[in-house]
Amino acid sequence: MTGSSLRELLRDDLRDQTAYGAPQLDVPVALNTNESSYPVPAAVVETIARRVGAVASSLNRYPDREFTELRTALAAYLTRTTGTALVADQLWAGNGSNEVLSHLVQAFGGQGRTALGFTPSYSMHPIIARSVGTTWVDGLRGAPSGVFDLDLDRAVEQARETDPHLVFLCSPNNPTGTSLSLDVVEAVYDAAPRAVVVVDEAYTEFARPGTPSATTLLDGRERLVVTRTMSKAFAFAGVRLGYLAAAAELTELLRLVRLPYHLSSVTQAVALAALEHADEMLAMVEAIKTERDRLVAGVTDLGLTPVPSDANFVLVGGFADAHTTWQALLEQGVLVRDVGIAHHLRITAGTPAETEAVLAALATLDRSHR
Ligand code: PMP
Repeated sequence: MTGSSLRELLRDDLRDQTAYGAPQLDVPVALNTNESSYPVPAAVVETIARRVGAVASSLNRYPDREFTELRTALAAYLTRTTGTALVADQLWAGNGSNEVLSHLVQAFGGQGRTALGFTPSYSMHPIIARSVGTTWVDGLRGAPSGVFDLDLDRAVEQARETDPHLVFLCSPNNPTGTSLSLDVVEAVYDAAPRAVVVVDEAYTEFARPGTPSATTLLDGRERLVVTRTMSKAFAFAGVRLGYLAAAAELTELLRLVRLPYHLSSVTQAVALAALEHADEMLAMVEAIKTERDRLVAGVTDLGLTPVPSDANFVLVGGFADAHTTWQALLEQGVLVRDVGIAHHLRITAGTPAETEAVLAALATLDRSHR
């Protein structure tokens, strides 16, 4: 059978789709997927080796299906860092927050159901929702204060109109970097009475001081879910560990859709090692925020227009042709992200040397390419 006839066997709704994925290129300066540029600290590497060593001889057995020790450690981490008291039964985890999001859409989305998000936002939200046949409604952010802020009244209006089964909010938002006020979360929750409302907080550890987590709203809101990941601030993208906090009754329902033993013993051991060293793992967050702010200042000096960011990346506007600039930067060994927003590129904040490299590369470009 040829590739094209195989495509005819595919589910109708997938037939004209292309697979998601940022280019994985071997370049000196990779600032395109919002990873941490800082390696895992040596002390943590030692604990990882010890913990993986301890489970290695038991790998003939399936892992703890309930990952109870990990859920307990994640609950303790969130309780300590957000000030919201959470217990293990409120925590759920998966292979990256993408899998956790996938569990949510499998449980609460699907054929005949609708999910609402506000574009531009994380492009996997619609892809994951549609993967189980959920109808995606592309809401508009449209705020008077700036094109990328999500306006409370507009959001409420669209939530009422759509009456969705799932709502995706993202704070700080990828790719814009903007945080969401908790008023918007509360208002959308009230305006969508049958929806599971997901607040994707993948980048929250990079937020400027005074940006509270939506975990503070969980009490009394049984349809609210806050997703997190170890891929960004924890500098642990290679491990694939994402998690969520919600009402215990909601996490219980996710057991209906997860595959048995979805978190391997090795993943659980490695994640526990990182949580044991949470402060060391998060030690580079301040340095990354400094580089983010240097990037903002540097691109502004070049006559470009950065969007204020609470994340580990900056969406930079003002390019005549973003794709041409993307290509020109790549030719200088600097890989950034063309997120498909006209005149904009997204640049991850990395090390001081990476900030200098990207600013130097931008400075060499002809003004019309900046
Ligand atoms: N949410 C957002 C907003 C993201 O940007 C990303 C990764 N780019 C994810 C979730 C998924 O991250 P992971 O699966 O690595 O946890």
